[in-house]
Amino acid sequence: MKLLTPVRIGTMELKNRVVMPAMHLGYCQAGQVSEKLVEFYRARARGGVGLVMVGGCAIDEHGYGSMIQISDDKFLPGLTKLTQAVHEEGGKIAAQLFQPGRYSYSFLFGVQPVAPSELPSKLTRQMPRALTVEEVKQMVVTFAKAAARAKQVGFDAVEAIGSAGYLISQFLSSVTNLRDDEYGGGDMERRMRFGLEVARAIRQAVGPDYPVLFRVGGNDFMPGGNTNKEIAEFCRRLEAEGVDAFNVTGGWHETTVPQITMAAPRGAFTYLARGIREAVSVPVIACNRINNPELAEQILAEDSADMVGMARAMIADPALVNKTAAGRTGEIRKCIGCNQGCLDAVFTMKPVGCLVNPLAGRETEIKLQPAAQAKNVLVIGGGPGGLEAACMAAERGHRVTLWEKSPRLGGQLNLASVPPGREEFNTVIDYYGNALNRLGVQVELGKEADLESVKAFGAGAVVLATGAAPIVPPVEGVDGPNVVQAWDVLAGRAVTGKRVAIIGGGAVGCETAVLLAQKGTIDAQTLHFLALNNAEDWETLKQLATRGVKEVTVVEMQKTAGADIGSSSRWVILQEMKRYGVKVIAKAKALRITAEGVLLEAGGEEKLLEADTVVLAVGSRPVKDFAEKVKEQLPAAYLVGDAVTPKKALDAIYQGFLAACEI
Ligand code: SF4
Repeated sequence: MKLLTPVRIGTMELKNRVVMPAMHLGYCQAGQVSEKLVEFYRARARGGVGLVMVGGCAIDEHGYGSMIQISDDKFLPGLTKLTQAVHEEGGKIAAQLFQPGRYSYSFLFGVQPVAPSELPSKLTRQMPRALTVEEVKQMVVTFAKAAARAKQVGFDAVEAIGSAGYLISQFLSSVTNLRDDEYGGGDMERRMRFGLEVARAIRQAVGPDYPVLFRVGGNDFMPGGNTNKEIAEFCRRLEAEGVDAFNVTGGWHETTVPQITMAAPRGAFTYLARGIREAVSVPVIACNRINNPELAEQILAEDSADMVGMARAMIADPALVNKTAAGRTGEIRKCIGCNQGCLDAVFTMKPVGCLVNPLAGRETEIKLQPAAQAKNVLVIGGGPGGLEAACMAAERGHRVTLWEKSPRLGGQLNLASVPPGREEFNTVIDYYGNALNRLGVQVELGKEADLESVKAFGAGAVVLATGAAPIVPPVEGVDGPNVVQAWDVLAGRAVTGKRVAIIGGGAVGCETAVLLAQKGTIDAQTLHFLALNNAEDWETLKQLATRGVKEVTVVEMQKTAGADIGSSSRWVILQEMKRYGVKVIAKAKALRITAEGVLLEAGGEEKLLEADTVVLAVGSRPVKDFAEKVKEQLPAAYLVGDAVTPKKALDAIYQGFLAACEI
């Protein structure tokens, strides 16, 4: 595979073409490298990745809490430990030099954000202070000093971040750079100056032979911002300043184009890397939603890039490269782009974890050990918690049997994968299916457990992952023929009419709304066909792609829909609902369901929401009566997942994992 062949960035030889791009992890305290951070990256280096890029590493007092700092010599001992750990595992490590500009928050460090111009971002809504010319020149020096520190502590390369809407890209864009001095204005040459000076100063600070990379957004995806064409020109100029490689991502954090949620197709932004590659002669790294070696290989084979960036893919499975090299790709835990454990944690200032890999970020806390004594373990329930428990128990040497009462594995993952753009939840089920097979777990589908059968089985330990059931709210008319559960809609068991009222605007309600509202829109293939043949104009195509045959309304008691969806995905789902024409009635209560629809109380008034079908999406309750009886009678019984409290798949998998580690 080309993916596993060596490649050079300047003077640095990498053993393969897989780069783990920088990602905020939230593992540091007061900017100092922690043991948690060191062991996290050690595991990735041990897993064979060619280059790990760590950071962002804040070059000054602006940034985010718990991020790595390289702004002062006091951080050097910790950074040295980090580079040593990666080198001990035979890996290469680079530092990403980070200055957020107007994306910084003053409440974190007590410093007003700085920017080319005084324009607040949609992201932070904070007014930044415009840098003076003197301060811009000083900022260039600050980048250079940080680069010198990186070299001093043993990083094999540095990367300046000029993407995502951070300081360098703010200077580059006419949207955020309204200056009329030598660093800005309508002239691209002047807007490029800051970035070019940063590259020049870094090169001078680290010398001619030290590898320097630049992270760029292949297209800002901002109205009036830079496109691939302008960024390619910027890269061409950066190459002349001595930049050795370009790491190409997508748009700004403020863009309305989803960058890394499941809604973005895998490898969707590879064309941006290709555009940069056509303009420069140094290596280019393609990024975003590349989560498996087959896709990575395809990108390299078609010469769209020289390397691939796999950040979350490497959180999900640190051994991705080694497994690929050993021909064990079926054993890779693939990142599904859910963001439940990683980006949603970043936005709530918690340390990063992973839905599909409960060990991610816990390398110092949990050491996997073979079981002291092999037992017969019975797992009841084949949803995410039960699947993880069964696999991990078998991995540790137990003899495991899994009973699932339905004809298929996956539990609620099967429902989660139904709405458009959420298909990747199926990947998790596929992974566990392979793992159960490989680990010799006895799987019995269509097997309902009762107390007698569990006792008769004679297990040394039982894991009870009996899941949850949808709640039926105490609303008059809820048992009418026009009322169905969202779970049944998602499972394809319920038919809905033209006008649909969904009671409950949480994750399930919103995703069911998107699924229904999208019915009758043209599919991707038809869209492609019509576009290619100029059959319709763009406005008509957009209409055909977003206007379905149903009228869908979501009724939510809280002031906004989607409150339980992680913030990295919430805006994407709400945006989809809006585009598909879903109406939301917030702060409303369902009083009664009739043959005409739902009688609501909203804003102190009662009104009828006319509907042919009423869909219930008001949450779920644990299914644990039987499980609690088992627990009373069998001391070695573990209750996990939704059977404890309905939460996210992230929580269910982690609980299943913990139970299996205890047995
Ligand atoms: Fe990928 Fe989800 Fe894991 Fe994040 S939490 S690394 S998106 S699988």
